[in-house]
Amino acid sequence: MRQMFVDGRFCESSGSDQLEVRDPATGELVETVLAGTAADVDAAVGAAHAAFPGWWDTAAARRGEALHEATTHARDHLEELARQLTQEQGKPLREARLEVGRCLETLDHYAGLAKNLRGGYVPNLDEGTYGVVLRRPLGVVGAIVPWNFPTTLLANKLGPAIVTGNTVVAKPAETTPLTTLRLAELLHEGGIPAGVFNVVPGTGPVAGAALVAHPLVRKIAFTGSTAVGKQTMASAAEHLKRVTLELGGSDPMIICDDADLDRAVSAASVGRFFNCGQACLATKRLFVFERVAEEVIDKLAGKAAKLRIGPGTADRVLMGPLHAERHRARIEEQVADAVDRGAKVLHGGARPRGEPYDRGWFYEPTLLLEPPADSRVALEETFGPALPIWRVAGLDEAIERANASPYGLGSAIWTRDLHRASVAAERLEAGYTWVNSVNKVYDELPFGGVKQSGFGKEHGVEALDYYQETKSLVVKH
Ligand code: NAD
Repeated sequence: MRQMFVDGRFCESSGSDQLEVRDPATGELVETVLAGTAADVDAAVGAAHAAFPGWWDTAAARRGEALHEATTHARDHLEELARQLTQEQGKPLREARLEVGRCLETLDHYAGLAKNLRGGYVPNLDEGTYGVVLRRPLGVVGAIVPWNFPTTLLANKLGPAIVTGNTVVAKPAETTPLTTLRLAELLHEGGIPAGVFNVVPGTGPVAGAALVAHPLVRKIAFTGSTAVGKQTMASAAEHLKRVTLELGGSDPMIICDDADLDRAVSAASVGRFFNCGQACLATKRLFVFERVAEEVIDKLAGKAAKLRIGPGTADRVLMGPLHAERHRARIEEQVADAVDRGAKVLHGGARPRGEPYDRGWFYEPTLLLEPPADSRVALEETFGPALPIWRVAGLDEAIERANASPYGLGSAIWTRDLHRASVAAERLEAGYTWVNSVNKVYDELPFGGVKQSGFGKEHGVEALDYYQETKSLVVKH
């Protein structure tokens, strides 16, 4: 049975509750993990708090070197990490390798920024007086991560947190703790000192809530659902903790009639079906100009038909199962609601039959035409492989309908017309807009949502600000 990783070693939980990690492709038990209690969270926060002064005192360049060396060591185990990720999360091995690779790239990106941490200097505030803006780490950071991208979503927090001198306690999702625990072990072996990065697996209401409520935790970096994000913010208010909230999304993609349709269709297909549709910034609503709608729909249906579904470890599989039975049940309910209200199923809309599909949580890539505006797929986040498609008369209608969502994470437009691209970039209510591009997130650019998709940024040099506070110093000489 796997245990929590605290202060540089695996240790027993104080409780006896267990988490069952199951393979989404078969439903079989992979491993059990001891579920962290509030006392375990307290022990992990204690270790992180004790490690904080020494880590803060370490030269910034040395912190960066340690993270780079640790990342290099973890990279030697990329294949092992990817296989573990596929087993517990369900994604195809090809995607798992990409994810672990991206996680390590992000950590390395922040390792490289360690030498560039800067404060400020203001001369001549008064006669013989100057000011200095100090930038200091916050202390212990709690990182709460969901199951869809367990490693990259952790790296987005861990990288900027530790290069700026903070220490971290992470709480992975109940169903995906294994890769995170192994990563913590590898990073420690590679040179991250004991106590700087700790992992307590556990349930949200017990371990997650205890981390958010802990008085020594100075900041919570949360990625997950909007509902739990709101609870997290309310609980963090008790100690006026800082929060960054990376929450749900319902990203629109607009395909204009002048777009490169082949590329646009490929992007919509990858955008929706990557990770079996379980991405915060997946393409969740498609708006197509009427003039090209028939062609786009035909091409998309052709793509969906070619998506080979299967267990993530099988050869040439392009789409794995959903992560858990309840997630499949939810997407089935959302599709049924759309169909009941008059949407036409253009492709999919059911579970695939026969071996190997009978045991795991598989669902076909699904295309839905014109669900009504009050249907669940239009209003809610769809976290699975179902794409609603609407025909629109032009750009104004597309933007208006794209913005008619409580969410505002990502958005995309396909056009060759600079004016249309500029108008969309200006008016789409989202933290990211891709023009003629797929939903790729770059370490160099800040990422984060608006409206009910949360606030605060990950990635970019901007992320460093979310793990530091400024202190002003006035010196009279
Ligand atoms: P979730 O909110 O149920 O769980 C996320 C994490 O929060 C898990 O680790 C969970 O154990 C923990 N948690 C649950 N209850 C808690 C509580 N009371 N206190 C503290 N922690 C608690 O989310 P989910 O359904 O597992 O994940 C999918 C959601 O995450 C989707 O809405 C998706 O869009 C969102 N997401 C957002 C981003 C982003 O960057 N904006 C990225 C990936 C996923």
